[in-house]
Amino acid sequence: MVNPDQSLIVILGDQVSQNISSLRQANKSCDVVFMAEVMAEATYARHHKKKFALVFSAMRHFAEELRTLGWRVDYVKLKDEGNTGSLRSEITRAQARLNITNVVITEAAEWRLQQELSIFSPIEDTRFVCSHAAFNNWAKDRKQLRMEFFYRDMRRATGLLMNGDEPEGGKWNFDSENRKPAKSGFFSRQPPRFEHDKITQDVIALVMKNFPNNFGDLEPFWFAVTAAQAEQALEHFLNYKLAHFGETQDAMVEGEYFMHHCILSPYINIGLLDPLDVCRRAEACYKNGTAPIEAVEGFIRQIIGWREYIRGIYQLKMPDYVNVNALNATRPLPDFYWTGDTKMNCVAQVVKQTKQEAYAHHIQRLMITGNFALIAGLAPQAVHEWYLSVYADAYEWVELPNTIGMALHADGGLLASKPYAASGNYINKMSNYCKGCAFDVKKRTGVDACPFNALYWDFIARHRDRFSKNPRMSQTCFTYNKFSETDRSAIEKQAQGFLNGLVSSGNY
Ligand SMILES: Cc1cc2nc3c(=O)[nH]c(=O)nc-3n(C[C@H](O)[C@H](O)[C@H](O)COP(=O)(O)OP(=O)(O)OC[C@H]3O[C@@H](n4cnc5c(N)ncnc54)[C@H](O)[C@@H]3O)c2cc1C
Ligand code: SF4
Repeated sequence: MVNPDQSLIVILGDQVSQNISSLRQANKSCDVVFMAEVMAEATYARHHKKKFALVFSAMRHFAEELRTLGWRVDYVKLKDEGNTGSLRSEITRAQARLNITNVVITEAAEWRLQQELSIFSPIEDTRFVCSHAAFNNWAKDRKQLRMEFFYRDMRRATGLLMNGDEPEGGKWNFDSENRKPAKSGFFSRQPPRFEHDKITQDVIALVMKNFPNNFGDLEPFWFAVTAAQAEQALEHFLNYKLAHFGETQDAMVEGEYFMHHCILSPYINIGLLDPLDVCRRAEACYKNGTAPIEAVEGFIRQIIGWREYIRGIYQLKMPDYVNVNALNATRPLPDFYWTGDTKMNCVAQVVKQTKQEAYAHHIQRLMITGNFALIAGLAPQAVHEWYLSVYADAYEWVELPNTIGMALHADGGLLASKPYAASGNYINKMSNYCKGCAFDVKKRTGVDACPFNALYWDFIARHRDRFSKNPRMSQTCFTYNKFSETDRSAIEKQAQGFLNGLVSSGNY
């Protein structure tokens, strides 16, 4: 007989948190927690093998953790007999199996799943610091949705780094003191690596068997898969890296994959760490004198600023946002995005690292693979599919605005006030990639000229009507306009020659 007071508490793969709103409403004495690994979620993108291992292992560990705490958990594994392959039908099947009518579920973060699960009337995900209502209220009637102003409101709302009504340290943003190139001999501690237990071993075998051809290396797999391990990773970052976070935030060094970045996004995005708690812990480091304001402010801005803002934009602009293409970019994605097989050392290094670790830091994503895609005019949807596939932290709600809006300017400047386009000069300033490259970063034309140089100016030439009206781009357009006709046609020829060369070498 159906018990009207009993609920099925559905926990999704990126909701493995005891703080998730569905669980907070639940009654341990009668409700049943339901979790399922389903093929539809495993195949909507060609996920990196390490992402599979992380999500499945974290889900299975979380189910065990809840059981230990006295919850009744109903868990369907990917290869369990009768698994229908979709979340909606697995929830319906569980309702019938357990004789439970009432379903409680926290809203999915991705649009696709929000649609699929809307019949269960999901409740809001309170792990996000900014509610839907608060973001919509902030966005309404604004001509421009700039992150910096949103961020200030988030500082006020959370009280993080606030001194009464004033920002701690006298200003909101300390970026002018951050973002230096890495000094030679730069060396950072590696993030903590966690041993495999039986659950993780089983999951690794499952991934090897079922997804052998997906992108990326499965081993060595060292991610945290429980909240306790993620807590150790957070402690490691706070103790050893936070103090230098801002200083080397934009720097890139060959062979140094992690720099002073926190490598916490995979854990925050699935619920092993709470974003606001991470920020409060960082703030405590400033208060107890172990990290300077410029580092802590820079770090907190990434989470309550960028992360929340990105999510707000996604929610506001979907479903149309996925199809925008303001710069009419149509080139297919070159194969080297998957293989790393290119003479451009910067791209080769970032793709190699991405294959190995399912991780690249923000500037590698934005200014190497993203910048190349922007200035070469690669089709935004193909680039979006790539970013959604290759990182352990990739979820459409966070990946899509970063790719379409920030990296590719395909939303026409809704998210970023200027395109993040750069020539080889920027890459040379912020990294040591050029030293080991077959191309010469100082050259704009010629067989050994750095492709980023001609592609950059050709990009400006193609879009100068649009960009000359943008105050942050007009100086660049002005510089281009002063080039002689000979220089302009040499740039165009060089850029076209490079792009055609990619086509003829079969690398498109
Ligand atoms: C093209 C592109 C695609 C991206 N795709 C993703 C993605 O799929 N998933 C994802 O979590 N991030 C994505 N980002 C944002 C950012 O690159 C990653 O959050 C960051 O590199 C994660 O590494 P970290 O944990 O070491 O972060 P740190 O550099 O140490 O930053 C601290 C934290 O701030 C947050 N953060 C920083 N920048 C951003 C941002 N722009 N948007 C949202 N959160 C941010 C993350 O939670 C991160 O853990 C993308 C950026 C670009 C340019
Ligand atoms: S020379 Fe150009 S292609 Fe080579 S690493 Fe530097 S920026 Fe990249």
